[in-house]
Amino acid sequence: MNILILGSGGREHALAWAIRQNPKCDRLFVAPGNAGMEPLARLAELDILSGPAVIGFCEENAIDLVVIGPEAPLAAGVADELRAAGILVFGPSRAAAMLEASKSFTKAVCDACGAPTAAWARFDAAEPARAYIRAQGAPIVVKADGLAAGKGVTVAMTEAEAVAAVDDAFGGAFGTAGAEVVIEEFMEGEEASFFVLCDGTDCLPIGTAQDHKRVGDGDTGPNTGGMGAYSPAPVLTEAIQDQVMAEIVRPTVAEMARRGTPFQGVLYAGLMIEGGRARLVEYNVRFGDPECQVLMMRLGAQALDLILACAEGRLGEMAVSWADDHALTVVLAAKGYPGAYEKGSMIGGLDALPEDSFRMVFHAGTARRDGQIVATGGRVLAATGRGATLAEAHARAYALVDGIDWPEGFCRRDIGWRAL
Ligand code: ATP
Repeated sequence: MNILILGSGGREHALAWAIRQNPKCDRLFVAPGNAGMEPLARLAELDILSGPAVIGFCEENAIDLVVIGPEAPLAAGVADELRAAGILVFGPSRAAAMLEASKSFTKAVCDACGAPTAAWARFDAAEPARAYIRAQGAPIVVKADGLAAGKGVTVAMTEAEAVAAVDDAFGGAFGTAGAEVVIEEFMEGEEASFFVLCDGTDCLPIGTAQDHKRVGDGDTGPNTGGMGAYSPAPVLTEAIQDQVMAEIVRPTVAEMARRGTPFQGVLYAGLMIEGGRARLVEYNVRFGDPECQVLMMRLGAQALDLILACAEGRLGEMAVSWADDHALTVVLAAKGYPGAYEKGSMIGGLDALPEDSFRMVFHAGTARRDGQIVATGGRVLAATGRGATLAEAHARAYALVDGIDWPEGFCRRDIGWRAL
């Protein structure tokens, strides 16, 4: 079959890498893609936020399945338009993507289905929000309701900090995303991510991961899109995974179906674990980046069978064939990231690195100029290793890092420390 992946990050490179290995995949396209994907797929220039543009491309190239990587096309309703045109698609409708696009929507779904999460209240004006903060006290969490690229959340240790966050949101710091604010109880615990394929009715867990959001070693410095990840996450024991499926994921999927907006795609549950139980922090409606890199490294070619069954509503027939393995990925970013950084620096050493089912450098922000790989983004590469133990996966990932010649880049040296 012919497959089109939408997106250009390390997540999409990892999806392309896994899908390409499956003999069911004939022609593979990625739009817009990046330089790292050139050996695997044809790159296509395409406005991935435009339903008609994607549909036109699918018709011209006899595409049988579209896999949507990032949230923006989902929130724009591209999956709906593709389905309406009779094209098979992996990814939720615009209505189901509200589970990521609106925090108050997710909270209301949790309340309706009894899923455990932080106590919350929603505000569309500053004064009642300030009064609520004074009544609840700190620590407390203030969130812009809409998509704010991870920047709309303040975990406030003092009331003053929380009030300042409310004033920022209503002052327009997050545009329309901050026109409504959700204020939440602060949850203690350890965070982990749980990934579940859902076809509207059936659900199939496909792995756990933990990521590293802070830019610096020891979890210091500002937040980023993610500086590394590993899978599985030991804190998500089988017992807790069962609890999450029974109390959070299945009830959510049933509630979405009951509302007439069934969820089809990957549901990424961000969880807080304390005292042997998990509560929901947030949902995302697509794979995480860099979590996707470690999940794909572990799933390999079967990822396509699972994605296809999900898109066709056949997940009930499927099971994941697990190897007893671990994967770990280290993100290499341009110096300065997540602040200002230079673009265009040359990256050497990549051609000499081994690439197999245990070692892979996924590209995120790269392009090819005059035959050379150059950095074009903040997060640029994800050096990923797999092994029988996390220590082995760690050693393989950092051996890749050490073979990359990029003086303008940096990475964290402590990915996986919590589990190692
Ligand atoms: P991202 O896109 O970075 O995942 P987001 O903007 O969608 O973030 P959340 O995931 O809801 O927002 O929150 C970001 C982070 O803030 C969480 O990963 C968690 O560390 C922290 N956080 C959010 N809600 C709470 C809470 N109720 N208690 C404690 N910490 C929280």
